[in-house]
Amino acid sequence: MKEFFNLEESEWDYKKILLVIFLAFTFSVLLRYIWVDQFQNVEAFKWLGQLMINTNDGYYFAEGARDIISGVHQNLDSSPIDNPVSQLTALLVKILPFSFETIILWMPAFLGSLLVVPLVLIGNSLKQPIVGIIAGFLAPITWSYYNRTMTGYYDTDMLTIVLPTFIVWGIVSSLLNKENRFLLIAPIFTILYLFWYQQGSSLSLGLAGMLFLYTVIFERKEIYNYKLLSFMFIALAPVSALIKLPILLIAFGVIYWFENRTHFEDDEVLGKDTVVLKKDKHKRKYNIDKYIFVLFGLSAIFLIASGAFNPIINQIQNYVFRDFGTEVETNQSITLHYFNVVKTVREASAIPWETFVNRISGNQITFWLATIGTALMMFRYRVMLIALPMVALGFLAYKNGLRFTVYAVPIYALGLGYLIVTIFKEVSPRYIKYLLIAGATTLAIYPNYLHIKSYKVPVVFNKNEVAVLDQLKYIAKREDYVVTWWDYGYPIRYYSDVKTLVDGGQHSGSINFFASYVLMRGQVESANMARLAVEYREMNKYQLDKMMEDRNITDPNIFLQNLVDDKVELPEKTRDVYLYLPLRMMNIFPTVGLFSNIDLKTGKQAIKPFFYQTSQFKDNGKFISLGQGIVFDKIRAIIKIGNIERPIDSFYITEYKKDGKLHVTRLQSRAGANLSIIFMKNYGKILVVDHNTFKSTYIQLFVFENYSPQFFEPVILTPLAKVYKLKR
Ligand code: MG
Repeated sequence: MKEFFNLEESEWDYKKILLVIFLAFTFSVLLRYIWVDQFQNVEAFKWLGQLMINTNDGYYFAEGARDIISGVHQNLDSSPIDNPVSQLTALLVKILPFSFETIILWMPAFLGSLLVVPLVLIGNSLKQPIVGIIAGFLAPITWSYYNRTMTGYYDTDMLTIVLPTFIVWGIVSSLLNKENRFLLIAPIFTILYLFWYQQGSSLSLGLAGMLFLYTVIFERKEIYNYKLLSFMFIALAPVSALIKLPILLIAFGVIYWFENRTHFEDDEVLGKDTVVLKKDKHKRKYNIDKYIFVLFGLSAIFLIASGAFNPIINQIQNYVFRDFGTEVETNQSITLHYFNVVKTVREASAIPWETFVNRISGNQITFWLATIGTALMMFRYRVMLIALPMVALGFLAYKNGLRFTVYAVPIYALGLGYLIVTIFKEVSPRYIKYLLIAGATTLAIYPNYLHIKSYKVPVVFNKNEVAVLDQLKYIAKREDYVVTWWDYGYPIRYYSDVKTLVDGGQHSGSINFFASYVLMRGQVESANMARLAVEYREMNKYQLDKMMEDRNITDPNIFLQNLVDDKVELPEKTRDVYLYLPLRMMNIFPTVGLFSNIDLKTGKQAIKPFFYQTSQFKDNGKFISLGQGIVFDKIRAIIKIGNIERPIDSFYITEYKKDGKLHVTRLQSRAGANLSIIFMKNYGKILVVDHNTFKSTYIQLFVFENYSPQFFEPVILTPLAKVYKLKR
């Protein structure tokens, strides 16, 4: 049995390895060109002559990089100038002859493809170069790994799998060779990984934990393992790399020096009768084993004392005490309940089995084969058990959402590679064997290739939307604020260089409340709240209870009513505030509403405003069918939703006429009825809204351009996005 799995081959020399890495890397980058090829002639997807990125979060890092390069940023602007992604980007922009847009577009493709390197190296360390090559061609283009490192997916993901795979290689090669020259690989990649992606601490602790278990179970007496463990512990501490790196290098230097230095020692040579015959001088190496145990103990204490385990403890607590209730904000006199943002996060939910399987291997069959292969590989090469935490993290996705599947991809690719090599190992002649291996690998790659071809992700904003933001950049100052929904925070800050109240990283229930309120309420209270929110954020008192406290109000409903009645004293205006109202917000309109249609005293959802939009409607003469069983009876001016009939207040038609301006026609029917219909002619869209929704600032300013000049002033009006300036 054991012989069957014994396919000892020899390691390849570095020239062959470099060539293979180059080929697999090129293959990975070429497949990432497919998306570019599909869209590079779509003008709407391009800005400054280059395709734009396709991940919202990318604009966060882009803002940081832009500010690092320009050397200026503003207090409280949330620009991540200390972020490694931004720093690396700025560096690349400075040294490479490509534009900023080109660099952020292609960085994920090139950095993500680096996954090839540790995979090929792991295979080679196992003396199974073919296994590494198969994995090197397969893993980088596998479904979920591709999705998170495709061209334009400019995010930390481009290295969050590459770096831990390097750590696995570092540990595996160390354990197999037991040579000091391998000792620093895993610790240095651990430091890099934690620098790049702080949240990686759980996984890297997991990898070191496996190394510890492996040592305790299989190699308790290997002094070498304790050296490696000590270095890993130092690397894992949540301490600046500038502190850890010197400690690591000094410890390594000391060990290396002692282990390679000889000294003379008196040696007593004993004769038959245990009488000392003579004393002699002998060359000896120092035995520093006990000092290594001391180092091991000290580094373990250092690791624990540094608080490295706190994130894990917190995660477990969050998991056990997971609470989907309201988000509560309390000070002595005021307790406010906000909408819990977790309820709207799509990624945090379980995924169907088939999606899970496809994301890890691209296909059901390959998934099961790879599962068998991974088990066999870990059975035959027990050092590969070190990689178990990556597989486990990948499997967490089944319960915790699709973003995690990606961690299992590289190990599963190695497993499949191992299975393929095992199956065909007896085939001769050799060239037939290699043809079969190549054929099997191609079969595994194929479903992933099909996925890549069909995965036509759009860019975040299209050209006309960016044009609005670009125009705004020349109107608004850098210290000014743009108030809008958090989804647009990062791109707005990147393209307009302004400040925002919310963004992809700052959108808790209590912060979203302000943005939601401004967009969803009437113009008086919206204008008042916009000014309050901006000035309180600048005063570092960005909380509703602080606003109430400053006005000696303890009841949030009284405070909010004062905004409606325009009876609230506003702070001094220190800067301009703009409202950004994009068409695309209509798709998330009900979600936006959730955050402010809440009773802050109880956290209960207040009456749900009615909003319905459709582009699939059909005019049958007497009736307009609006889909979802909703029908408008033109003659009786009645809306039928199932069996319920409701009169409408008005039927509005908005239309861009030849003068390029928006015109609104109102056909009033039953004054005072709660519902109205809005036909947005040029958009091919019909909205059904209730009175509250109709009065909201978003609907009035975006759909009708019906602003109160007292509170707002139009700045940029385009069909896709409108910008107003606050006049408070
Ligand atoms: Mg700025």
